[in-house]
Amino acid sequence: MITTLPAGVRITSANKCSFCHGSKCCTYVTQHLDTPRSMADFDLLLWQVSHRGVQLYKDEDGWFLLFEAPCAHLQPDGGCAIYERRPQICRDHSNDYCEFDAPSEVSFELYFPDYDALLAYCRKRFKGWDRRRSA
Ligand code: SF4
Ligand code: SF4
Repeated sequence: MITTLPAGVRITSANKCSFCHGSKCCTYVTQHLDTPRSMADFDLLLWQVSHRGVQLYKDEDGWFLLFEAPCAHLQPDGGCAIYERRPQICRDHSNDYCEFDAPSEVSFELYFPDYDALLAYCRKRFKGWDRRRSA
């Protein structure tokens, strides 16, 4: 969630996170996938995105599952309870252009937030998708 800025305040990398009360970057994890190619690959993905909070996307780095799951160390005020000991991936995350500036989805080449979205893609990608069970 992006807060309204007090008059005259300019967002910089140094102060940006203090205005980002939702700390969006701490509310999900992603897992890189081998590029799905076959009907069986996509059938498995359909099962995965059928679960609440599980999404699928493709960007310039490939295919990923995204699990909406707030970090257990995220504090109600948006801070990190283990800041001094936080994992390296958290340290490496840059806020130069992050979810505060725009939703991640804008950089996705393909985005499947749920079963219906992925099913529509499968039907378009594979001729005879709905007949595969009888094959
Ligand atoms: S890096 Fe970006 S998304 Fe994460 S807390 Fe800072 S401003 Fe928010
Ligand atoms: S360990 Fe801290 S910085 Fe890393 S995701 Fe969790 S709350 Fe965010």
